[in-house]
Amino acid sequence: MTGAMSRIAQVLLPLPLPEAFDYAEPEGMELKVGDLVAVPLGPRQVSGAVIGLKDAYGHNRPLKSVLARHSEPALPAGALEFIDWAARYAVDSPGMPLAIALRGARAPKPRPEKVLRATGAAPARMTPAREKVLAAAEAGPLPPAALAAAAGVSSGVIKALIDEGALEVELRVAAPAFPEPDPRRPGAQLNPSQAAAAAELRAMLAEGGFQAALIDGITGSGKTEVYLEAVADVLARDRDAQVLILLPEIALTQQVIARFSERFGAEPGEWHSGIASPRRRRVWEAVATGRCRIVVGARSALFLPFRKLALVVVDEEHDSSYKQDEGFIYHARDLAVARAKIEQAAVILASATPSLESLWNAEQGRYRWLRLTARHGPAVLPKIELVDLRATPPEPGRWLSWPLVQAMGETFERGEQSLLFLNRRGYAPLVLCKACGERLCAPDTQSWLVEHRYSGRLICHLTGFSMPRPERCPHCGAKDSLVSIGPGVERVAEEAAQLFPEARLAVFSSDTIQHPEAARTLIDQMQAGEIDVLVATQAAAKGHNFPKLTLVGVVDADLSLRGGDLRAGERTYQLLAQVSGRAGRAERPGRALLQTYCPEHPVLQALKAQDRDAFVEAEMAERRLAGLPPYGRLAAVILSGPDAQALEAYARALAAAAPNGEGVEVYGPADAPLGLIRGRRRKRFLVRADRGVDLQAFMSTWRARGPRPPGAIRVAVDIDPYNFL
Ligand code: ADP
Repeated sequence: MTGAMSRIAQVLLPLPLPEAFDYAEPEGMELKVGDLVAVPLGPRQVSGAVIGLKDAYGHNRPLKSVLARHSEPALPAGALEFIDWAARYAVDSPGMPLAIALRGARAPKPRPEKVLRATGAAPARMTPAREKVLAAAEAGPLPPAALAAAAGVSSGVIKALIDEGALEVELRVAAPAFPEPDPRRPGAQLNPSQAAAAAELRAMLAEGGFQAALIDGITGSGKTEVYLEAVADVLARDRDAQVLILLPEIALTQQVIARFSERFGAEPGEWHSGIASPRRRRVWEAVATGRCRIVVGARSALFLPFRKLALVVVDEEHDSSYKQDEGFIYHARDLAVARAKIEQAAVILASATPSLESLWNAEQGRYRWLRLTARHGPAVLPKIELVDLRATPPEPGRWLSWPLVQAMGETFERGEQSLLFLNRRGYAPLVLCKACGERLCAPDTQSWLVEHRYSGRLICHLTGFSMPRPERCPHCGAKDSLVSIGPGVERVAEEAAQLFPEARLAVFSSDTIQHPEAARTLIDQMQAGEIDVLVATQAAAKGHNFPKLTLVGVVDADLSLRGGDLRAGERTYQLLAQVSGRAGRAERPGRALLQTYCPEHPVLQALKAQDRDAFVEAEMAERRLAGLPPYGRLAAVILSGPDAQALEAYARALAAAAPNGEGVEVYGPADAPLGLIRGRRRKRFLVRADRGVDLQAFMSTWRARGPRPPGAIRVAVDIDPYNFL
């Protein structure tokens, strides 16, 4: 019986389910597509989004009813279409991207705060301190601590005024301030090549509809200044238009937000995992209602419910942090282009070392290609030198060679700054027992424990497992037999401190800098010249401008070439060009010293010659021959399960179900290089396809034809994998 039901709501739930579920729309609820609703699911109540409404005529299966409509704004059509597209792209269930899109929607509401308001009643006795408090309170209600600070009095004075009725307590929900940005405020005086790039972007925006551009400009060329012009143009063109700026690293947001605030006189909305949920909810709602016009955020900001998205900027577009490879697996740069297409918006990708994929798109004419080949003003690119560690090896147990130490000494004497770059967190990447040879790993995991001296712990970077550094080898029980092998940033910092005891030293890694504010403080200190030597992982290699930084020392230039996956050369080139590019700004020329055991390697030779185009050409030629991205497409299937035999059997059955496709090759199953994580065995398939092949269709056919995985086995599809472990 359908009773009084007149319509059926198709409700997508933020869960890994294959499709939306049908619910009856209760009479009078008058749902719209996009509404957020509560529905029953078994014994639970779940919130989801209405993605369709159909007539219930002829439907005679009893349905459970929608329980309630939430008060949050509905998801706009573009956001719904994007969720659907992203799920198809990733060959995953649409509930997965929906879960990301709803992360801010149902976050706890901002809690009201206590503020004090002047009642107008005079206190029993007036003193100068009390007068100051009342004057400050007249200007507007303030929280007690802020009021005490504003008047420069103790909390006792405030309390007495409350007791005497001159102040009263009020509960207030902090007003969500998203002030209107002003695009007419003047920007920087652009130099001629910046002005030409900005003019081309304005011409692109004037055409309207989906448009894409790549700003390919060396470090310090002013890419940010150029895209700020495009943002101003979009904001001025349409009073409702919204802009999204994506950044690969939370540590970069503060700096970019500061530049936006200065340029447009209004702080943009900030979105990433470091933002407390009540604040996130405010940004989410302000984006959905159109009040927040500029968002600066990490990759998940792409799933926000923009009402009228007109421009997406993907800064440092080559950065592999844009790839999310757990849970819902996606590449934010690729999805940014897709979202722009869906919204008929423009997308600007910016980088000093663009990905081969984006360069290829630019070469094909799909993206407008804007090149900035000189640094702004008198600044020049740093000189890059290779230090052959075979000729000048560091002393045993040391990691800095004398040419680098000498350069650091000269830099320090000139009152300038050095950056030592090593992309390894902690003190030592390996702890080994010299009695039995055991390499310490996390339980049931094939990954070394990394020694962290600052915290005194051994940490597995893969699983998060950690333990205090033991006195005895956990394997053979020998005492004082554990030795730390190899360097991490903490160990390099220790060596630098011994070499330069007077130098002010700091370490920048995700362990030492856990919040955007901490990053901001360190970056401010660096910019103010309060640090002489910064030892850093890639967290500091990106996007920052440090005017007094003139020396970059790369401790191990060979590190990311090892392991050799498809992008090892590209990634090494990008990372080292970026970090070297931190050296020398304004009038101070910079120098980068790259320590290596194989200076003849083509990647290092290209870096030394600063010949990116030659490097790209050679790399493209190799990819073309092998049919690898951007000339072909890849996908991975990752299987994991607790039982090796069951996993093996399932992998074989899945292999047998692989469809035959023209221009597609399936490799595997093979044991994953990380064969065991948290007690789960892992196996992988790799699929290579020609560009013209519909890889998603192939993968979903395969998924559908393959046997259902037994309960304990998990299957993940990774379209365009960046991680081959
Ligand atoms: P990129 O993003 O290409 O590394 P930025 O936009 O961050 O470059 O610019 C590098 C530095 O040069 C910044 O400090 C920026 O303020 C300054 N700069 C760039 N262009 C100009 C300009 N036209 N006028 C004044 N300063 C500029």
